[in-house]
Amino acid sequence: MSTHTWHRKTLLAQIGIHTDPTYGSVSPPIYPTVTFQHGPEGLGPFDYSRTDNPTRAALANALTVLEGGAGSSLFSSGMAAIQAVAATLSQGDHVVLTEDVYGGTYRLFEDTFSKFGVATTYVNTRNLSQVRAAMRPTTRLVFIESPSNPLLQISDIKAIAEIAHEFGALLAVDNTFMTFIRQRPLHLGADLVVYSATKYLGGHNDVLAGAVIARDPEVAESIATIANACGGVLSPLDSWLLMRGLKTLALRFDQQEATARRIAQFLDKHPRVVRVYYPDLGSNADTWLHQRQAEGPGAMVSFQLPMDLDPAKFSARLQCVLPAVSLGGVESLLTHPYTETHRELPEALRLALGIRPGLMRLSVGIEHTEDILRDLETALAI
Ligand SMILES: *Cc1c(COP(=O)(O)O)cnc(C)c1O
Repeated sequence: MSTHTWHRKTLLAQIGIHTDPTYGSVSPPIYPTVTFQHGPEGLGPFDYSRTDNPTRAALANALTVLEGGAGSSLFSSGMAAIQAVAATLSQGDHVVLTEDVYGGTYRLFEDTFSKFGVATTYVNTRNLSQVRAAMRPTTRLVFIESPSNPLLQISDIKAIAEIAHEFGALLAVDNTFMTFIRQRPLHLGADLVVYSATKYLGGHNDVLAGAVIARDPEVAESIATIANACGGVLSPLDSWLLMRGLKTLALRFDQQEATARRIAQFLDKHPRVVRVYYPDLGSNADTWLHQRQAEGPGAMVSFQLPMDLDPAKFSARLQCVLPAVSLGGVESLLTHPYTETHRELPEALRLALGIRPGLMRLSVGIEHTEDILRDLETALAI
C-alpha cells in the first residue's frame, strides 16, 4: 500500500518509523553524535551533524511530505528559520511584509537585515492593491502570515503568490497558526512555508524549534546551505522531541479548535467583551476567504476588553488559563500583545493596527472546555 494516499493523521502517527533498520525500533532513534566515522569507501550519508543528522533528517523528511514540499530544514527556533529565509536575500533587495507580522520578524528585518541593506515595506496584505503597489523591481520576497497575529486577519495566499511571481519574487508564508493540518500554502502557490515549530508542531511548550519547507528543490537546497553555513540547526534530541510532539498534532488541533470555537461564541455574546477576532465568526469576506484556503478556523482567539477592565487585573483573576507568551501548546495561555508579543512595533503602528491596550490573545489548550469557559466568565465579572 502506497503511503502517498495516507491521511495526514496516519503520516503523523507514524513519523520516524522505519528509520532503524538494525533493530526496527518503532520510536525513531536519537543520534547524539557530532561526527560520523568514515567507512572503507569514504563518506557515508552523514558526515557532521551541523550539516545533517539522521534524527533531524527523519523529521525533515516527514515535514516535507506533510507540507507537500521538495525539502525541509530544521532550526533551533522559529526565528532562526526566518533568519535563513532572510539570508537568501542580497544587499539592495526589497521585501514586502504583512504589517501586523510577528514582532520578532519585524525586529529581525528592521534591526538586523536593514544593516545589510535589505529594504522592507509593510502593507495590509488583505488588500491586494496595496501588495501590488508595494512591489519594486528589487522585490525578491513577500512574507505573510494568514491568519495574522494577533488580529487573525486573512490574506489571500493564492492571489499574493500570483502577484509575487509576476514580479519575480518568492512568497513565504508563516504557517505557525494553522499548520499543515489546516492550511497548505505550497499547494496555494507559495514558495516557502516557515514555522515556529515551538508552537503547535511541538505542542507541549517544551521545545524551541523552527522549520522551513520549500516547494522547489533548488530553493530547498539553498535554505539547507544557509542552515549549514549559519549553524542554527535543531539538535538530535530536540528533533526527537518534536517528532514525539507531532504524532498527536492532528488530535490536539481538533480538540483545541473545537474548544476555541465555543470560546469564541461565548465571548462574542458576552456583554463585557467589545470585540472578538476569530476566523469563522460572522460572515465577512475574511471568513469566506479563510474557509476557501484553510480547513478550519484554528485555536487562537483574540478579544478586546472594555476600557474599564484592566487587562492585568483580568489576567490575574484567571486560574486555569495561564498568563504567558507563546501559543499552540496543550496548556491554554493568555497573552497581552500590546505589552508582550508586539511591543517591538512602534506605538503608533500598534494602535493603527488595532493592537490596543485592552486586546487579549488566547491560545486554547486541551483542558476541558467548561473549565476554560468558567475561568473566563469569572475573570470577566469585574
Ligand atoms: C513564535 C513565533 C515566531 C518565532 O518563533 P520562535 O520559535 O519563538 O523563535 C514566528 N512566527 C510566529 C507567527 C510565531 O508565533
